[in-house]
Amino acid sequence: MTGTVTMSLEVELGWGVARYGLLDKISPGRERETRRLHALLDCCATHDVPITFNVVGHLFLESCDGDHEGPYPEGWFDVDPGTSVEEDPLFYAPDLVEAILDAETAHELCTHTFSHVECGELPPEAVAHDLRTARDIHEEHGIDEFVSLVPPRHSSPPRDVLRDVGIETVRVPHYRSPDFGEPKTPLHKLVAILNGPHPIAEPHLIDGVVETYSPVYKTLAAEYLPLGEYDTHPAYRWIPRETGKKLHRRYHERALDRAVETGGHIHLWSHLYDVANDHQWPQIEALIADIGERVERGELEVKTMAEVNEEVRDDVERPRRVTQ
Ligand SMILES: [Zn+2]
Ligand SMILES: [Zn+2]
Repeated sequence: MTGTVTMSLEVELGWGVARYGLLDKISPGRERETRRLHALLDCCATHDVPITFNVVGHLFLESCDGDHEGPYPEGWFDVDPGTSVEEDPLFYAPDLVEAILDAETAHELCTHTFSHVECGELPPEAVAHDLRTARDIHEEHGIDEFVSLVPPRHSSPPRDVLRDVGIETVRVPHYRSPDFGEPKTPLHKLVAILNGPHPIAEPHLIDGVVETYSPVYKTLAAEYLPLGEYDTHPAYRWIPRETGKKLHRRYHERALDRAVETGGHIHLWSHLYDVANDHQWPQIEALIADIGERVERGELEVKTMAEVNEEVRDDVERPRRVTQ
């Protein structure tokens, strides 16, 4: 059978961590993240594997004065340095956006909001304004309008806001899929992180928005290896590093095997900074090569979120052929 894999990668840099005091998860001057993005783009070009890059809109800017109007909560932009890419490359990254756009592979530029808004927490008017600001920035850069949103911190946006702003597809935690139940116990989650199997979850068109499902824990990067500049989380330090790397590779292999065997869909994700260290990277390279080979053998298709959106809408709109 032919399985489908989607990969989405959050390019958020400081915007995803500064509000939570975790800025040191990113390397000084984001040097490792910049190098890693270039290596990732090269690897994707070699194996002809496209990725959905979920980019925070503010990163498109060369500079700003730190003042962004809108119906945001008081102090929302306190984390904004109000400088430029030279001074604060964790908050401005037009070079990274450029690199993705210039890549040989037809990657997707999806939005991760303009200022890393938790879409279910902030007032709907702030969410709508923030998404429109991101849309304007894409337009100013002459980039196709985005149809996809990966909501920061898995915080679910109101569906009417998405429809108003023209978002057609969104990544959603897999347990919210109609095909799954509520999240399981912490022990179940631990076993799933270490051993899989990665859930097979078909995308669904719900309330006018195509939902594609992914676990809330990272699946492109491994939770039990160092993430970004941080050492392994204490909960996983009992796992020897080399064993962790083998588990990581095996998790991906089994996820692809399952997608192929069932003809189902898997959606892997992580942040760029998570995979910027050398403990995660070899397994990511192996995964992308593996995907490329399986695509060549006709076992697997790689689809961006925008492509998944098209496919699901086509299926819904096309009348089913009746066979006698
Ligand atoms: Zn700014
Ligand atoms: Zn984020």
